[in-house]
Amino acid sequence: MSGRLSQAKRIVVKIGSALLVDAESGQPARTWLAALADDVAEARRAGQSVLIVSSGAIALGRKALGLSRAMRLEEKQAAAAAGQARLMGAYEEAFARHDIAVAQALLTPDDTERRRRWLNARATLETLLDLGAVPVVNENDPVATAEIRYGDNDRLAARVAQMISADALILLSDIDGLYERDPRGDPSAAFVAEVRDITPAIEAMAGGAGALGSGGMRTKIEAAKIATRAGCAVVITKGSELKPLTRLKTSARATWFLANASPQAAYKAWIAGHLAPQGALIVDSGAASALRVGKSLLPAGVVEVRGAFEKGDAICIVAPGGEEIARGLARYDATDAEKIKGLHSGAIAAALGYDSGAALVHADDLVLL
Ligand code: GLU
Repeated sequence: MSGRLSQAKRIVVKIGSALLVDAESGQPARTWLAALADDVAEARRAGQSVLIVSSGAIALGRKALGLSRAMRLEEKQAAAAAGQARLMGAYEEAFARHDIAVAQALLTPDDTERRRRWLNARATLETLLDLGAVPVVNENDPVATAEIRYGDNDRLAARVAQMISADALILLSDIDGLYERDPRGDPSAAFVAEVRDITPAIEAMAGGAGALGSGGMRTKIEAAKIATRAGCAVVITKGSELKPLTRLKTSARATWFLANASPQAAYKAWIAGHLAPQGALIVDSGAASALRVGKSLLPAGVVEVRGAFEKGDAICIVAPGGEEIARGLARYDATDAEKIKGLHSGAIAAALGYDSGAALVHADDLVLL
C-alpha cells in the first residue's frame, strides 16, 4: 500500500486550517509548514508534481482583525481577505528554503463547474506546474455568495484534482482514515484501509449530515466520490505529524479510495458523454486522418464552422462525408474559429490579435468516436 503514493505523478494535497494555524497564537504553524515544504521538495525530486489546496485564510485573518466572537458571513469574508495574504506569506517563507516558487490561485466553485472558466483555470494551473511552481489554491472567499462551510475545501480539492488530471488526492485530516464507526465513540470500530466502491454502506460509516464529530468525514467521502470518478485515487490520513507525505510513502496508516480509470480516460469519457455539444467543425480528409493518429485539430484542416460555441465548449468534429469522428473542447470560440479556419497556425495571431495556441481542439481534449 505504501508504494501507491510513490507511483503517483501528480498529487493534490488538501490542508485544513487546524494544521496550518496554531490554535493558541492564531499564527501560522511554521514548523509544520517547513516540514511540509521538505516533503514536497522530496516528492518533486522523485519526479512528482504537487499542488496544494489550502484553508487557513479565515483563521489567520480572524486573529489579524481581532474578531473573536462567532462570525457572520461578511466577517468571515473580511477575515479571509485579511488572512489570505498572511497564508501565502507563510507558504512563501516555507518554500523559499527550497527555492520553490509558490503561486496563489483563488477559485470560486463556478470556475470548477463552468467549462470556459474551467479550461482557463486548468491552463493556468498546468502552466504553473510546468514552470516548476507549487500552486496554492483556496476558495475565493471574499466574493463567495453562499455560506463558507467547513469542509468545502475537501470538495474544492476534488474538483481541482479532476481539473488537472491528478492521480492522487491526499486529504490531510485530524483522523488517520475511515472507520466503520466513529472511533471516538467506539474504540473497537474497525479501520477501513481500502475502498474500491463508495457504496451506501461506506457513506453510512461517515455519519450523517454535518457530522463534524466524525472529523468532517462526510465531506471527505463526497470529495472522494468526485475524485475517484475522475480517475484520481484519494487518501485520507492524519496530517498533524510532521512530513505526512513521507510518512504516507513509508508507514502511515491511511484509507485509500481507489480510482477505477486513469485520469486521462475519465477526462475523455467526461468529454464524450457528459457535455452537450454546442457546435461542430467540418474538417478535410487530411485533418480527419491526422486526428485518427492522435494529432490535434489545427485551423488549417477546418473547412466549416457551425453553431455558436464558446471557448471551452464541447463540439463535434465531422469528416467530409458527414460522419462525426470525434468530440472535443474548443480552444477558440465560433466567431474566432470562423476567422482562422483554413489558416496555418502561425497566422492565428495576425488574424485575431491574440494567440491561444496552435490547435483549435487540442489532442488532450479530444476523443475519437
Ligand atoms: N476557505 C476557507 C479558509 O481559507 C476554509 C474552508 C474549509 O476549510 O473548507 O479559511
